[in-house]
Amino acid sequence: MAVTATGAYDEGNIFARILRGEIPSNRIYEDQWAVAFHDINPQAPVHVLVIPRGPWRSWADFSASGSDAEIAGFVRAVGTVARLLDLQEPGYRLLANAGLDAHQEVPHLHVHLFGGQPLGPMLA
Ligand code: ADP
Repeated sequence: MAVTATGAYDEGNIFARILRGEIPSNRIYEDQWAVAFHDINPQAPVHVLVIPRGPWRSWADFSASGSDAEIAGFVRAVGTVARLLDLQEPGYRLLANAGLDAHQEVPHLHVHLFGGQPLGPMLA
């Protein structure tokens, strides 16, 4: 079920549980600010999720209330993952769904990183 992009953070959401190590994930990168792991249901040959460690539901929420260090750390981590995956050429796509219209399923901010094939036009 898609979730709204506002309201209290749900500590029981699946990515919160992954961050706490309560359920497994196939991690490819982690640092002080972020964790990156393979999506369980990949939509492209490379489909990685990058999530901040803090309790943020959406990009708007995070940018309004996260610290500058946390925001910078997360943005850098997303770029680090793209470099680690060696996707700068031929390219990759970043996507962050927020709320019902975007079909956000997990109410913890996550950036999808897609690559490994031509990705087609946006909103296709
Ligand atoms: P949507 O499912 O519409 O893409 P989201 O943007 O909220 O909505 O994406 C949630 C993503 O989390 C999905 O791509 C889904 O496959 C992935 N996912 C759900 N549970 C897990 C899990 N335990 N480990 C890795 N990825 C997961």
